[in-house]
Amino acid sequence: LADRLTGTESNVWVEFGSLAAEYKALNLGQGFPDFFPPNFVTDALHSVASNKENPFLHQYTRSYGHPRLVNALAQIYSKIFNRPIDAQSEILVTVGAYESLFCAHKGFVNPGDEVIIFEPFFDCYEPMVLQAGGIPRFVPLRSTKPAGELTSTADWTFSREELTNQFNEKTKMIIVNNPNNPLGKVFTREELEFIGDLCKKHDVLILADEVYERLVYPGKEYVRIANLPDLWDRTVTIGSAGKTFSVTGWKLGWSVGPSHLIKALCTVHQNSVYTCPTPMQEAAALGFERELSLAEGSEDSYFWQIPRELVPKKEKIMKMLLEIDMVPVEPQAGYFIVADISKTGFKVDPKNSESKDYQFVKWMCRNKKLSAIPNSAFYTSEHKKLAENLVRFCFIKEDSTLDRAANIFHEWR
Ligand code: PMP
Ligand code: GLN
Repeated sequence: LADRLTGTESNVWVEFGSLAAEYKALNLGQGFPDFFPPNFVTDALHSVASNKENPFLHQYTRSYGHPRLVNALAQIYSKIFNRPIDAQSEILVTVGAYESLFCAHKGFVNPGDEVIIFEPFFDCYEPMVLQAGGIPRFVPLRSTKPAGELTSTADWTFSREELTNQFNEKTKMIIVNNPNNPLGKVFTREELEFIGDLCKKHDVLILADEVYERLVYPGKEYVRIANLPDLWDRTVTIGSAGKTFSVTGWKLGWSVGPSHLIKALCTVHQNSVYTCPTPMQEAAALGFERELSLAEGSEDSYFWQIPRELVPKKEKIMKMLLEIDMVPVEPQAGYFIVADISKTGFKVDPKNSESKDYQFVKWMCRNKKLSAIPNSAFYTSEHKKLAENLVRFCFIKEDSTLDRAANIFHEWR
């Protein structure tokens, strides 16, 4: 391995994905729906494949994004950001949101630069900073209520002092994952303003990972950090077709931001991936065009439906977790729920050097045939203790799948 890969060898998705497969466990680990995507999405892909008029839909397309998709994204994001988004220079289409994250790290971070990350964080942020030669700095989100008590992610916040102390002349970028994976926290306007003010003061870039943007539950205010005054010029916002249309296997994502920042990402992309699959981009464009054709707030819109479908699933999983004394942290968005296992009576094996949450999930997978993700995977080594009693479950599943999980919990009791 090249030296810069040191410390980034293990991967929680690889490890727990194969464990779930090995034990044929009910998989509430990695986040993906187990139901068919909406018809208009699968029909779009089908229509692309069966279009005999246009052979070019099966050939390479424009490097920075297929024209039809960047045009659709420009329309969507012009509304979101309340400014005309230029399809040619302010958008880059990537292989999933992952590649956008990768291009941003490679495109902005110089050796020795510091990047601030809130914990818990989507696990790849830390290795991406390290592989770019940067130094990650962490700021934990903490519950303002006692551990083990039923809380909402609205109770989880960062210390203003800890965040302020992490900014210095070496700080290049801060990653703001809103809504947050794994907590499902939606940052408040006031929290985002505080972050934004520090970024302006220290001239720091903002990487806004907003892949769960369409999954904010009804009634919750959702503020985009790029929309706060004077932050557009320093912010790149990332989205994902996988999360937007419930097609994680399409692996299509994008970055939106001012052209001077998007250019850096394009430079990485054109020399690594070069261009993304054309059929997927055409189909995603059709999906967005369909959503754009519907009136604002239409109940036929998938963007209206999907968060509303998640709410009863969230209620269902909370109820079943409480039944076996796993105390959940109620999310405000997304399809993950974090639960505290300290009251379950699970005892660690003192001969095993792994953290309690890792031991618990492996035990549950082997003995209960149910898999989840240990939450310490979303913390840096020195802070893993903060998550030793926490595990994450994914609940974007058929009700019958959730019922099977409920049965497992019921028999466990
Ligand atoms: N960011 C976050 C916070 C995520 O949860 C995911 C899901 N894998 C990604 C980025 C990557 O998304 P994609 O599947 O589009 O690469
Ligand atoms: N975002 C999903 C999750 O957090 C998928 C992770 C992945 O693709 N590696 O489970």
